Amino acid sequence: MPTAHAPFVPPGSGWPEDPASPGTPVAHGPADVIELAAEAPGLGELCARQSVCRACDRLVEWREKVAVQRRRAFADEEYWGRPIAGWGDPEPRILIVGLAPAAHGGNRTGRIFTGDRSGDWLFASLHRVGLAALPTSVHAGDGQRLIGARMAATVRCAPPDNKPTPVERTTCLPWLAREVEMVAPSVRCVVCLGGFAWQGVWPALRQAGYGLPRPRPKFGHAVEVELTAPPAASHPEPVLLLGCYHPSQQNTFTGRVTEEMLDAVFVRARDHR
Ligand code: SF4
Repeated sequence: MPTAHAPFVPPGSGWPEDPASPGTPVAHGPADVIELAAEAPGLGELCARQSVCRACDRLVEWREKVAVQRRRAFADEEYWGRPIAGWGDPEPRILIVGLAPAAHGGNRTGRIFTGDRSGDWLFASLHRVGLAALPTSVHAGDGQRLIGARMAATVRCAPPDNKPTPVERTTCLPWLAREVEMVAPSVRCVVCLGGFAWQGVWPALRQAGYGLPRPRPKFGHAVEVELTAPPAASHPEPVLLLGCYHPSQQNTFTGRVTEEMLDAVFVRARDHR
C-alpha cells in the first residue's frame, strides 16, 4: 500500500479492485490514448489502461494535488488519485454514464460514483430496483456489485470545479468509445446522468457503431431515444438511450430530482427488453 499522502496509489500495489499492474502501459498524451484504447485486447486490460492514464496535464496535477492535500474529514485515508475506470458487469444490459468523478469521491475511493452524496443517491436507487447488491457504495472492495449494469464516465479524472475542458473531454473520449464498443453486444439500454454526460456519450456511441437520430434530441429527465443497434450487438432491436437528471446535491436538495424520479428511470431501464 502507498505511504501516507502519496499523490496516487501505485498500480498493482494491493488496492482492492485495482485493475492495473506495474506493467500496464501508460498514456502520456492524446495520441497514446487513441492507440492504447484501440489496441486493448479486452475489457479488463482497457480498464487497467484507463486507470493509469496521464494524458491530461491539468487533470493529473489536480487529481494528485487533491490526493495529497485531502479534505479534513478524510485526512487519515489514502486517496486513489488515479483515473476512475469503468466498473460493473462486464456483460451489462444497462450502461450508466456520468460526467466525471468527484475530487473527494471517486478520486478518493477508487470507484466511480462512490464516496459522495451523488453516489449515495444513485446506489440507493439502483439497490431499490435490483441493479446493485448493496444500498451503499463506500469504497473499492466493500462488496458492492452491480447486477446487469455497468458504470463509466465521459471524463475519468476529477476536474477542478467539476468542469473538464472541451480538449480534456476529447482526449478522454477514446477510453469511453472503446468501452462502449466492447460492451455493445449485451447492452440494451444506456442511461445518461445529466446533460454533460448526454453530450459526451453521443460521439462515443457513434464511434461504437450505433445508429443515431439527427438532430440530436435535447436532454431531459426520462427523455427516451431509440438507437439503431451496432453491428456488434447480439440482437437487432433498438437500444434505448435514457436521460436522467444528475443526482447532484443541488438537484436533490431542491427537489429537482427525487428518489421516485430516479427509481422510475432505472425501472424503465431494467424492464426494457
Ligand atoms: S481525463 Fe481521461 S484522458 Fe485525461 S488523464 Fe484522465 S483518464 Fe487520461
